[in-house]
Amino acid sequence: MKTPNRIAPLVALTFAALLATPAAWALPKIKVLATGGTIAGAQASQADAGYKSGSFSVEDLIKAVPQLKDLAELSGEQIANIGSQTMNHEVWLKLATRCNELLGQNDVEGIVVTHGTDTMEETAYFLSLVVKSDKPLVLVGSMRPATAISADGPINLYNGVALAANPEAKGRGPLVVLNDTIHYARESQKMHTTRMDTFHSPNRGIAGMMNTGKAFFYSQNTTRHTTKSEFSVAGFTTNDLPRVEIVYSHVNLGGETIDFLASQGVKGIVLAGVGDGNSTDAVLAALERAVKKGVAVVRSSRVGSGVVDRNVEVNDDKLGFLAGMELNPQKARILLMLGLTKTPEVKQLQQYFLEY
Ligand code: ASP
Repeated sequence: MKTPNRIAPLVALTFAALLATPAAWALPKIKVLATGGTIAGAQASQADAGYKSGSFSVEDLIKAVPQLKDLAELSGEQIANIGSQTMNHEVWLKLATRCNELLGQNDVEGIVVTHGTDTMEETAYFLSLVVKSDKPLVLVGSMRPATAISADGPINLYNGVALAANPEAKGRGPLVVLNDTIHYARESQKMHTTRMDTFHSPNRGIAGMMNTGKAFFYSQNTTRHTTKSEFSVAGFTTNDLPRVEIVYSHVNLGGETIDFLASQGVKGIVLAGVGDGNSTDAVLAALERAVKKGVAVVRSSRVGSGVVDRNVEVNDDKLGFLAGMELNPQKARILLMLGLTKTPEVKQLQQYFLEY
């Protein structure tokens, strides 16, 4: 006769009880890499418009949103604690290296980077070109400091962590999340000095929306990034990043700044041109002189949206210029800088501006 198995039902019961307890589900492991910004900022008093970026630590930020513990198993690292107006290549290299290390680990499912909004679009775009992983990488910030009335940091962090833990965020490159809106790194742009709806994606539109942690994607990212990017900063120091400067065009601008930059040995100049990447005759002549000295010149636009295409009002073929296409000047600087780590060839550099 078969003896009844008394243990099996007990095991099944315990297992069922465990499954019914949400806490028993293994939550995704998400890293929060903090760099500072208004999201970690503090005011002297709540009614004060003035504040200091980067006053709170990554642990403070996580602790301030207890609901995060239901979304992910979180751990934090402080990469920097600065206002993003002082973001620099040294911090970028440290951040990119850490993102690559962590995302290469089997036990890390995604990363949230907390960052000031001033230069978030630049850091996001830089990471999109040099991080080699399709795991979610989300940048969040806030427009109001942590101590403000109706601070927006907690909900932005909540949405950011939810997105980093969401498999749907995979393969899209770094995402920027603020004000319930998801942007692709390349498209994102800060466009208002103080309002919470400051980020827009003026050329190709937003990636999607968030509703209290729930993501709704509207579009695909069809440009090259992360695992499909040929750029890498592995083993780089800041000296390995060629110096590229931006010159802002306006009525009556002369060529002196450009001549000076070329004399200082800059490797690239991005023109934040008027309209379709245009400028004065004096500027175009100075840029032509710079090209003859071996400086790569990209025409972009100060307008804020649209395409700067080749040979429209300026004869790029004749003058040896590159057209910045959809990239605004600050993003064109990044692509030119990384492009110049690969080649000085105008044709190849132009190809980068068509693909990335
Ligand atoms: N100046 C701040 C920063 O970029 C602004 C912000 O975070 O919103 O760090």
